Amino acid sequence: MKNIPFCDYRKLYTENRNDYLNIFDEVASNGGFIMQKALSDFENELAKFIGCKYTIGVANCTDGLEIGWQTIGLRNGDEVICSSHTFIATASSIVMAGGVPVPVDIGPDNLIDPDAVEDAINPRTVGIVPTQLNGRTCDMDRIMDIAYRHKLFVVEDSAQALGSLFKGKHSGTFGNLGAISFYPAKVLGCFGDGGALITNDENIFDKAFQLHEQGRDPNGEIKSWGRNSRLDNIQAAILSFQLKKYPEVINKRRQIAAYYNSRLSCLEELILPPPPCDNGDHFDIFQNYEFIAERRDELKKYLYERGIGTLIQWNGKGIHQWEPLGFNIKLPKVEEFFRKSIMIPIWPYLSDEDIEYIADNIYAFYRK
Ligand SMILES: *Cc1c(COP(=O)(O)O)cnc(C)c1O
Repeated sequence: MKNIPFCDYRKLYTENRNDYLNIFDEVASNGGFIMQKALSDFENELAKFIGCKYTIGVANCTDGLEIGWQTIGLRNGDEVICSSHTFIATASSIVMAGGVPVPVDIGPDNLIDPDAVEDAINPRTVGIVPTQLNGRTCDMDRIMDIAYRHKLFVVEDSAQALGSLFKGKHSGTFGNLGAISFYPAKVLGCFGDGGALITNDENIFDKAFQLHEQGRDPNGEIKSWGRNSRLDNIQAAILSFQLKKYPEVINKRRQIAAYYNSRLSCLEELILPPPPCDNGDHFDIFQNYEFIAERRDELKKYLYERGIGTLIQWNGKGIHQWEPLGFNIKLPKVEEFFRKSIMIPIWPYLSDEDIEYIADNIYAFYRK
């Protein structure tokens, strides 16, 4: 029997241990811990990779989203439409910035449903926050068309989607701004919390820079009230190192996803994500491999007993289903989704044997 955790966090370090020790040594030896060259280098490399004008390293993606909404300036009662199938941070960042999140249902692709967005628009609506979930970018033609017609702001929650494309354009670059997470389990993960705010809008960049750096501009002049939400230089140096190998990592994840699809698509008990595709509208980076499974809980137990870690995203609830938050709505597709959804391991250091073992066991569960 094998032991395959859902995500092996140790590998993030152990697979390149010596490189990381050198990075720690270099950053620490020259004392450049905060707002130094390692950070600006990484911000520049990230901007180049994404093809956007401005990137700001922030303490985490949640801060990036919150600062993003603060640059836009939400007023009391302003509503922002989000998917209910997302991390709580998508909605909490709206609340923390003074707005009201309005969760809506998902479409057939399990991403925010553009028709549901349109239905939720009312005179209080000021924005949309599409979550580029599991490494797949929404149909941004539809989202941006709605935003344009109703004069709404768009902040992209691209926490899970660095490098994901829609019609050749990077996730996070369609709307007013985007935010990315470098949480260790993300496709580009650092050794703790980290994130970035990305934008092509100079005005948003100026405001966001001040908000994340005590109200100071890049010259240290105080221009407004702000806070401290900086990305540490050590984390930035680690991320620079990883960004060089990032296309390989994405490629590996796409290969694993393609393998799962080839092995499991014959099981009618499953609804799989679309396989990676090289010439379609979507280029997915497979932050997660999430699918719908009949007898989900039994499958989870069966895999667990055979040493395979799985995860049900967000603890198995859409954000509107968390009672303490006071949403009093029903979103049938999201609720149905969480009765059957599951994620299997897809991190890049899985061996061919591992992924074969995972696929074999899922197959065996339904066909034994
Ligand atoms: C991880 C994640 C976040 C939050 O990122 P942090 O860096 O942990 O703040 C936000 N939204 C989504 C969809 C995520 O997956």
